[in-house]
Amino acid sequence: MTTATKSVSLEQELNPTEAQTARFDLAAQKLNLDEGIWKVLRYPTRELIVHIPVAMDNGKLEVFTGFRVQHSIARGPSKGGIRYAPDVTLDEVRALAAWMTWKCAVVNIPFGGAKGGVICDPHKMSIGELERMTRRYTAELFEFIGPEKDVPAPDVNTNEQTMAWIMDTYSMHMRQTVTAVVTGKPINIGGSRGRREATGRGIMIVCDEAIKKLGLRPESTRVIVQGFGNVGSNSALLMAQAGYKIIGIIEVTGSLYNKNGIDVKALSAYRQKHGTLAGFPEAEAADPAELLVTDCDILIPAATENQITSRNADRVKCKILAEGANGPTTASADEILADKRVFVIPDILCNAGGVTTSYFEWVQDRQGYFWKESVVNEQLETIMVAAFEDVVRFAEAHAVNNRIAAYMLAIDRVAYTIRQRGIYA
Ligand code: GLU
Repeated sequence: MTTATKSVSLEQELNPTEAQTARFDLAAQKLNLDEGIWKVLRYPTRELIVHIPVAMDNGKLEVFTGFRVQHSIARGPSKGGIRYAPDVTLDEVRALAAWMTWKCAVVNIPFGGAKGGVICDPHKMSIGELERMTRRYTAELFEFIGPEKDVPAPDVNTNEQTMAWIMDTYSMHMRQTVTAVVTGKPINIGGSRGRREATGRGIMIVCDEAIKKLGLRPESTRVIVQGFGNVGSNSALLMAQAGYKIIGIIEVTGSLYNKNGIDVKALSAYRQKHGTLAGFPEAEAADPAELLVTDCDILIPAATENQITSRNADRVKCKILAEGANGPTTASADEILADKRVFVIPDILCNAGGVTTSYFEWVQDRQGYFWKESVVNEQLETIMVAAFEDVVRFAEAHAVNNRIAAYMLAIDRVAYTIRQRGIYA
């Protein structure tokens, strides 16, 4: 094989839309999906590109490019986060939007799927610049979002503050406060208790189910987490509290290993104080790429896409791969992991705790009645356990791996709704 074809194939492997489509096509084929519905679901309903002028602090104007892709509204308003990053592409947002459709269907909540992104480097922008960019992005999308249309939420590099600005901008245009237009808001302006930790909690719930299946107990289960943002840090904190042994944390600012378990609470406080994981005294510094393939029971990639690929999947040594991020494993790596009999908890199930609690937030906003955190967590557990069981049962019944089972389950639910609604002409 020439270098040129090699690089093309790696490029293809790492393209999120290819990753999404490869699994979708395989699952659709196994389901014997009607060809017409197959075509409908292969393409997003709507793709928006906006160019956002922003007055920067230095007095100059800058123009940022933003996307919002609405993949499906068959099962309800489209739902999905907004990410800010320098390398966001339309192809990535397109894949992430489809993943949201499947994710909402796997946990059986009444939403379709969408995703947004703005090409920018939020770490190099001031709060004022971020606020102006967020507000203008929201204004550009005004006609296309809303509680009954499309409901954004946080994702990579966006947070409760970003959601508060979106809610406020939308409300100013509507001339009334509309809290249900976004989820992941601060609690005092219509946010839900438990939302901040929800993705991490959901990961713990499905890991609890997976270790039961494999005959392990939390105390004897060694976990390595990649990423220490909202998802990684909360899953590590909650799982450490529940007795799991967190032996490794992989992060851009430093990677740590301690075979006896890291005190995650102390690490969190250390990061708060020093702004980095590097130098934490109670663990050894480790090489991030090596730590990803270090022996453990559960590996949780909770950072970005394409971490487990055809290049390193054969060296992965976990029993369970719990995908906290969206798309951390490429389609080519799937087969390698299946051959190694790794129990994969696919992203569209594993990290669905976030959007499930977003659903609770949307319900609470529309009711104007807010639940106790224990109620939120209980409802989350009920939904995540049921979805885990549905996926595992589907995998066994159809003799496919967990990821394809999750896609099949989701596609089947969405296709059923499309058939029931019919096609408007
Ligand atoms: N961005 C999160 C995800 O990828 C949350 C989406 C939401 O709550 O709508 O699932």
